Amino acid sequence: MAQIDHKVRTLPEAARLSELEARLIRVRDEITAAETIAGDLHLDQARADADVEQVRERSRRDQELLDAGTINDSKQLQSLQHELGSLARRQLELEDVELEVMERVEGANAAVRQLTDERDQLEIDQAEATAVLANLMAGITAEREATAAERDLIKSEIPDDLLALYEKIRINHDGVGAARLYRGQCEGCRMQLPPSEIQALRNAVPNAVLRCEECRRILIRTPESGL
Ligand SMILES: [Zn+2]
Repeated sequence: MAQIDHKVRTLPEAARLSELEARLIRVRDEITAAETIAGDLHLDQARADADVEQVRERSRRDQELLDAGTINDSKQLQSLQHELGSLARRQLELEDVELEVMERVEGANAAVRQLTDERDQLEIDQAEATAVLANLMAGITAEREATAAERDLIKSEIPDDLLALYEKIRINHDGVGAARLYRGQCEGCRMQLPPSEIQALRNAVPNAVLRCEECRRILIRTPESGL
């Protein structure tokens, strides 16, 4: 059961899901930032469009005035023509600005699209990873329940005082309360027991609870214990 719990804590599928969720948070933040930039640029574009339109309108009015032929004063005519010239130059300048802003708007829109695509893919991956993990966890939960039932069955056959001792040791020894004694070695701490200790264990009565003198775990005797 400790192994199952450890498996649950270290599932690569869970780590993958966490990573996807972290990336999603990041991308969503980036989308918000990119949308803010794009929004500001849209306003800049609207302003640039309005600036160009204002100059065009002024030129149109001047041109109409000129075409109407109602102005006869030569100085006034000259001044009007001069203004038309500067308006034309100003219009070209403003159109350059407008073009530049448009390009930046396109760039910002493209950035938003790219991030949105990335987010959509991450959401698909996240849904998949969630399903994979849920499926896996269902299997592990079933395995854990079966193991718990098996453990409880064995538990019911063990005297209470021995069980209490086992639990106490288990909690303080990485979840392993009892270890097999194999060819004179404690498989809990890997310590090779000295011959004097082996002799003492050999002399113990069959139902005595043996303990490793190094790690204090309960030692389980088998035909391969070397006793
Ligand atoms: Zn030991």
